[in-house]
Amino acid sequence: MSDEPVLAPAAQGPDGHWIECPDCGLLQILPVPIGGHRRHCCRCNASFGHGVIRTAAAPALAATALVLFPLATLFPLMAISLGGESQSVRLGSGVIGLADHDLLPLALFVLAISILAPLGRIAALGYVLLGRHRNEHRPRLAAILRLAERMRPWVMIDVFLVGTLIALTKLHDLASVDLGIGFWALGLLVICLAGFDASIDRHALWDVVSPPLHATAPPAPGSWIGCRECGLVQSISARCGRCNARLHRRKRDSLHRAAALVMTGIILYLPANLYPVLTVISFGRGAPATILGGVVELMNGSDWPLALIVFAASVAVPLLKLIGLAGLLISTRFGATRRLADRTRLYRLIDLVSRWSSVDIFVAALLTALVTLGNLATIEPGLGVLAFGAVVCVTMLATENFDPRLMWDAAGANDA
Ligand SMILES: [Zn+2]
Ligand SMILES: [Zn+2]
Repeated sequence: MSDEPVLAPAAQGPDGHWIECPDCGLLQILPVPIGGHRRHCCRCNASFGHGVIRTAAAPALAATALVLFPLATLFPLMAISLGGESQSVRLGSGVIGLADHDLLPLALFVLAISILAPLGRIAALGYVLLGRHRNEHRPRLAAILRLAERMRPWVMIDVFLVGTLIALTKLHDLASVDLGIGFWALGLLVICLAGFDASIDRHALWDVVSPPLHATAPPAPGSWIGCRECGLVQSISARCGRCNARLHRRKRDSLHRAAALVMTGIILYLPANLYPVLTVISFGRGAPATILGGVVELMNGSDWPLALIVFAASVAVPLLKLIGLAGLLISTRFGATRRLADRTRLYRLIDLVSRWSSVDIFVAALLTALVTLGNLATIEPGLGVLAFGAVVCVTMLATENFDPRLMWDAAGANDA
């Protein structure tokens, strides 16, 4: 794709409205959705969604998810037994296990991404869907929708499910493992949430909660600002006329904040890989293992696919994410003009894979929850898991704080 500034096509339908691409900053008409086809930025190919809310499926899926959540939380995910002793683990057991081992910050992070964010987001979106036709509630609905949107990157229940599967494989060598009702509820919940996400489009939801005025004339240069939260393009003011968010042309102090977070991530990456994440002692045998040690252990047990997943999620992805973000920051700082579309794609890729690094944290949390089986086996978390949790958290914050539009600004592509 060419990096030349491309003029957005003129109004593509009577009801299309102006939006600013969140990835490249191009002002363009968001076309009216046609048969659920995805709409894309005409310059950087960012997805603007399919523009549809499946009004029958979405509330039903939200209600099903809200029923499945307590089932997945209250019933055991799995139970292990060894030498006549048995223990079970639930969705929240990892949080308690980590807190019991004086890893409270990590316990709170796991609580937020495995329970609070998924539950809060589905409840908030369910509320918005049910109340979307009531005019008097529009400001409240907009505030709740904003909150739900902010929680979206932190919803990691699907990563938790993969973490459960890895924990299961690791435990197989140690004891006999049985799956519980909670595991099946969790699996259904992940499918349900994926279906729910596919059935609602955020632009369409915003348009239903508060329809924008359909202006067909392009806003005068320098007189408009796009809202980062709801996407509405409006005349410059302090707060958004639709969702009441503070308006800024670009994310505030984007480069400084992202650079500080990337540096922190690079520093923490060393202890995360050098210190042990878990110590598994079985029948008096075992030693502390680092992340790489855990990968080697899986390979020795011929669990090659899982070893590859853990290596990719816990070693390769965090490192490539840090290198990639550092590259984007440096190229923006020096006003690089080449490969803008490719760099924007790299940013989207980093944003997409970021969350999968949490998988090892969930494995450690679940295994820690199965603390002791008498004198037969013990599993203790190490300092490495705390450092690794911090790496995951700061790299996600760095990705969120980096504003990809600055790359296009720095190259002079948004001057017109
Ligand atoms: Zn774009
Ligand atoms: Zn807004």
